[in-house]
Amino acid sequence: MTYETYVGMTRENLLEKLKSQVSKKRLQHMLGVEKASIYLAEINGYDPEKAGLAGLLHDYAKELSNEEFLALIDKYGLDPDLKNWGNNIWHGKVGIYKIQEDLGVTDSEILAAIENHTTGSKDMSVLAKIVYVADYIEDNRHFPGVEEARQLAEVSLDKAVAYETAHTIEHLAHQAVPIYPQTIETYNAYVNYLKET
Ligand code: GDP
Ligand code: FE
Ligand code: FE
Repeated sequence: MTYETYVGMTRENLLEKLKSQVSKKRLQHMLGVEKASIYLAEINGYDPEKAGLAGLLHDYAKELSNEEFLALIDKYGLDPDLKNWGNNIWHGKVGIYKIQEDLGVTDSEILAAIENHTTGSKDMSVLAKIVYVADYIEDNRHFPGVEEARQLAEVSLDKAVAYETAHTIEHLAHQAVPIYPQTIETYNAYVNYLKET
């Protein structure tokens, strides 16, 4: 498998770089998302290599410090409202700037998929749906409902996006934490897929 088209280094060298950025456990999860993304690409007629790379990189910035995220928000003049959120929202939306700086990724579809991997979006590309769903169903995930999400992903990416978003919102509401408006937009854009049989 060659990722060099998009990152200018082999997968092997990329893995070395990732090891210096994230914990072993996080890397295991990223490798799981890579594998699930490749699988979802294969059954949806999408480029498995591009999907695998996006999946592998999606949490690249997860372990940056809050200070680093806040500095990136300033440096790139991003929406100041972002500062009211935290790592959960930053590691995708702000993380893509770190990915561009460190890895030279320029492919806009890969960057958008990573940018929106936590919140989803009302207009996701096939790649964005693949990464969003793969993040939820990869082999290391164990939570009530993951089996149903895996089954839906076999049937329809859109249904899997809908299921994941509804369950994430339920989970966040249950924990009494703020929900990022874009997550609600995703829910509204996909809610109809929950009803179809
Ligand atoms: P991970 O990076 O692999 O752990 O997974 P995600 O990037 O999908 O999610 C990171 C965290 O953000 C999880 O704990 C989600 O429940 C949480 N999250 C997802 N959507 C939202 C949201 O709209 N608001 C908030 N506050 N957290 C969210
Ligand atoms: Fe994430
Ligand atoms: Fe993840």
